[in-house]
Amino acid sequence: MGRSTGARGARRPPLDRPQSCLHRRVTASLPAPLRYRLSIPRPESHLVEVELALHVDAADVPLRLEMAAWCPGSYLIRDYARYVRDLEAHAEGEAEPRSLRQVSKREWLVEGGPGDIRISYRVYGHELTVRSNHIDGGHAYLHGPAVFLFPGGERGREAAGEVEVVGPPGREWPIATALEPIAAAPGTSPRFRARDIDHLLDCPIHLGPVDRREFEAGGRPIALAVWGRHELGGPFGVAELARDLGAVVDAHAARLGPLPCERYTFLLMLSPGAYGGLEHASSSANLSSPHAFNSARSYYDLAELLSHEVFHAWNGVHLRPQAFGKFDYGRENYTRCLWLIEGVTSYFDRLGARQAGVIPVSHYLMKLAEEWGRLLAVPGRLRHSLEEASFNAWVKLYKPDESNLNTTVSYYLKGGLVMCALDLELRRRSGGEIDLESVIARLVREYGGPGRGYPEDVQPLFEQAAGLDLGEFFTRFIRGREDPDLPGALAAVGLELVPGWDGFKPEDGARPPVWLGLTLHAGGRSIAGVLDGGPADRAGLSPGDEIIAVNRYQIDGESELRQRLVGRIAGERIELALFRRGRLEQCEVVVDRAPPTRYEVVAAPAAGPGERRRFQDWLGAPHPGTGALAAASLAGTV
Ligand SMILES: [Zn+2]
Repeated sequence: MGRSTGARGARRPPLDRPQSCLHRRVTASLPAPLRYRLSIPRPESHLVEVELALHVDAADVPLRLEMAAWCPGSYLIRDYARYVRDLEAHAEGEAEPRSLRQVSKREWLVEGGPGDIRISYRVYGHELTVRSNHIDGGHAYLHGPAVFLFPGGERGREAAGEVEVVGPPGREWPIATALEPIAAAPGTSPRFRARDIDHLLDCPIHLGPVDRREFEAGGRPIALAVWGRHELGGPFGVAELARDLGAVVDAHAARLGPLPCERYTFLLMLSPGAYGGLEHASSSANLSSPHAFNSARSYYDLAELLSHEVFHAWNGVHLRPQAFGKFDYGRENYTRCLWLIEGVTSYFDRLGARQAGVIPVSHYLMKLAEEWGRLLAVPGRLRHSLEEASFNAWVKLYKPDESNLNTTVSYYLKGGLVMCALDLELRRRSGGEIDLESVIARLVREYGGPGRGYPEDVQPLFEQAAGLDLGEFFTRFIRGREDPDLPGALAAVGLELVPGWDGFKPEDGARPPVWLGLTLHAGGRSIAGVLDGGPADRAGLSPGDEIIAVNRYQIDGESELRQRLVGRIAGERIELALFRRGRLEQCEVVVDRAPPTRYEVVAAPAAGPGERRRFQDWLGAPHPGTGALAAASLAGTV
């Protein structure tokens, strides 16, 4: 980093040294703790300065330093080492810096013998996501895997850490993190403790002004820290969100047991166009829009996001596959069970919010119908099972391209719907004795926690917990590529799922709508995706083609293209003009009848007492008897 070792080194506390060789052998870890110091002298530079001080024994030379290539919960090689700069190593008592030998894109060896070593570097961060650093004049979000170089090898991974956090000079930036605070003397910077490297990397650190609320739920103290200006336009605000999160966590805990951590922190950052969350053992990082509080629908989505991430504290972090028992931060970690982590959580995030009374029945059913329509619009669901989609997440879900909709399926989307079907099947077959949450609760109890985890074949575990044979279900919907029978599952709770088309009523004499089987880039004329087997595919249209005219009349975008399809009949031939790589082309397309664009959830009037009781048990509200309860319109494909 090109600065002298003197002044800064003098301020540091003396390093702990091992009591003896015996002590070191017993603990089998680097002489602890690793002392990190994070400082942000000028946040506008988007840089965090990092120092790591540690004692290196003869047994540990040459010291190997590693940077994570990815972060648990987000299955993509991100190569965080690319953000590291100005890396230097100094040993106490040595005038010259130690040589650093880079041995891979993310590993360095510190040359030289044992001693007290101080590593210094800077990390650039200007990407506001939950799995990258973001440092600017407004705040700093520090994501552990993208910040901390750590000593490699088993011993390095087990070393405890201490982190001193120094905010920008002259700014009072409170810190929100799940790291355990260390009592600090007045006037000194806040310090935190990490049990080991996994813990250190699992606890994001946020510096900046937040609206902080504290409450108790799920048997644990909870903090909600909201950063970013937000608009308050209706009955929803941060106080209501804290109240609702308390109810959601209580609803989850009532079935799964107390939160499997001592305390829990929701970090919520608000920024236009942002959305997403990342789960951790005792916290979650979440991003949403500043306008999320403006309408009921966006507020429900926000509550669902936070419900999702805290559910992961039980399922996904505490309970997880053996394949994720000890993360290898340097390469892809494969499992066929991401459907269990994400599908189960996607199902219970909204159901928990419904059961807690945070979202109404109509909203719950509308989202269910919408997801059903979205699933059926993806040809790739017939090419990847949930297990295959899980295994390939690293190169499919997290590396989306124009062909993904034809080659894979989201284990969130299909996983959530398959879990809904399984839940309703378990309730029906067991006479209401068993439901999916009781199965997950048993898995949490029996397989959750450090050193445990479930094997890749979870069917026997589900069967044991449910007391039912689930062979056919797993063969068809988990290992196989069949669509879940959601209409059949909903019939068991007295509901019908009625497909239709938006704006189409046969009694008006209108023709059923037709389609081309393609998606467009954001309302424009350029093709984003072509669905396998659809009219556009048969006619040889490609992603990237820009459709400029239908039957020789110009169109200016998606809505005009849709208009030109109105009134046509399936089998009709239309002529498209398009630009392909800048050259004008003509193309004939034979249109097909469009798949449904609207799904309505209707209360089955013939629902008997069994169906009505199951509805009540499931959604915590009486079966409405008759009538349309919810409808979802889908506008994805043309
Ligand atoms: Zn998730």
